[in-house]
Amino acid sequence: MTATTDFHPLAAPDASRIIRDHLWMHFTPHTGLTGADVPVIVRGDGAYVWDSHGKRYLDGLAGLFAVQVGHGREELAEAAARQTRQLAYFPIWGYAHPTAIELAERLANAAPGDLNRVFFTVSGGESVETAWKLARQYFKLVGKPTKHKVISRSMAYHGTSLGALSITGIPGAKADFEPLVPSTQRVPHTNFYRATEHADDYEAYGRWAADRIEEAIEFEGADTVAAVFLEPVQNTGGCFVPPPGYFQRVREICDRHDVLLVSDEVICAFGRLGHDFGAKRFGYQPDILTTAKGLTSGYAPLGAVLVSDRLMEPFQHGATFMHGSTYGGHPVSCAVALANLDLIERDGIYEHVLANESAFRSTLEKLSDLPIVGDVRGTGYFYAVELVKDRDTKERFTDEEANRILKGYVSKAMFEAGLHCRADDRAEPVIQLAPPLICDQTQFDEMEQILRHALTGAWAQL
Ligand code: PLP
Repeated sequence: MTATTDFHPLAAPDASRIIRDHLWMHFTPHTGLTGADVPVIVRGDGAYVWDSHGKRYLDGLAGLFAVQVGHGREELAEAAARQTRQLAYFPIWGYAHPTAIELAERLANAAPGDLNRVFFTVSGGESVETAWKLARQYFKLVGKPTKHKVISRSMAYHGTSLGALSITGIPGAKADFEPLVPSTQRVPHTNFYRATEHADDYEAYGRWAADRIEEAIEFEGADTVAAVFLEPVQNTGGCFVPPPGYFQRVREICDRHDVLLVSDEVICAFGRLGHDFGAKRFGYQPDILTTAKGLTSGYAPLGAVLVSDRLMEPFQHGATFMHGSTYGGHPVSCAVALANLDLIERDGIYEHVLANESAFRSTLEKLSDLPIVGDVRGTGYFYAVELVKDRDTKERFTDEEANRILKGYVSKAMFEAGLHCRADDRAEPVIQLAPPLICDQTQFDEMEQILRHALTGAWAQL
């Protein structure tokens, strides 16, 4: 594989100026930005991307938890081109088109249990927004109009639209937009490494964490709670894997109180955990499942919300779900999703993840010999490395230290050494890793070596 700048349309100084003067980047501080300090990524192939200077990076985050089958897959480009020529766009408002029809059936056949109705969206946040609105209207239609609130977990990210942001549990992401949509309540996540209850008993800790959901439902009043939104493995805070029995207990709690269990699988579906759906990995049955990202491997924007006949039934007697968007179920995105699912199947991507996940884990666990590494956790191809000031006491860095180490040093050191991944200090300081699902030992070693170098350097800076 050779690096090329063929696709880079601008000379570097021009790009820098335009970035500085015109491109408002997402979640990006613009204070002091010169433009020249922004990497311009111009090409991808397999597990790697290249910047405008021809430098190669290992994509340790699958772009943003999306590029399951790797970059540069000709089959997906072809599928998009074919569909664009045939029917570039038509809405699914009162109409249907072949790729949405075929994809709906394919998702319905694969989805856990009785989930067989597919509502297409454009993004993960829109899937979450849709799920909440659907839950609210569903309860109105079945004669329980006061059930409208949502329980979600501390630090969990569910999107940026006002509804999805209200469900999100990250205070720093919300404060500037208050007041948000009322009626959401937070419960603890499952960071066993930081457990203050049942710290010596993983299953008991899981029961304790699940019971906090029941406590919140009872506190709010079950007649006011519509849904609980949970990721199979919570991303923010660093890959909180559910303890054994956690989801089974949550399911019982939801059934007891007639609360819908929403599995937010925007990251965890389509192979991230070695299965098509994250709920299958942990053996639970959601009432609603939200997806996006890996559905198209990020090659085109698309999300989907999956529900059962039971939830759709009240909408088949006169009521309409007055919700949707211009591009939800876009024909080109659906064509790309179908080609992506074909590729995943043909290449045995889920089997590949299951066969290699323990090698990924043991390679990352080698980092545990570094004094700054407190915990290495995750599952599938979805891991986080939590950084600490003192490994023995689990002492945390102060906010200033965490910011200085992560943003000031580790992020830059990793990127300079050729690794794209994420150093996140929104909760505990963690390095997040979620590479394309085609990666194997070669890339695991590369990640470990670059992280070792960056974390060793960070420790020396303290
Ligand atoms: N839900 C979860 C669990 C996510 O991780 C994300 C994004 O990372 C979202 C929702 C929002 O997705 P999007 O950025 O596509 O709106």
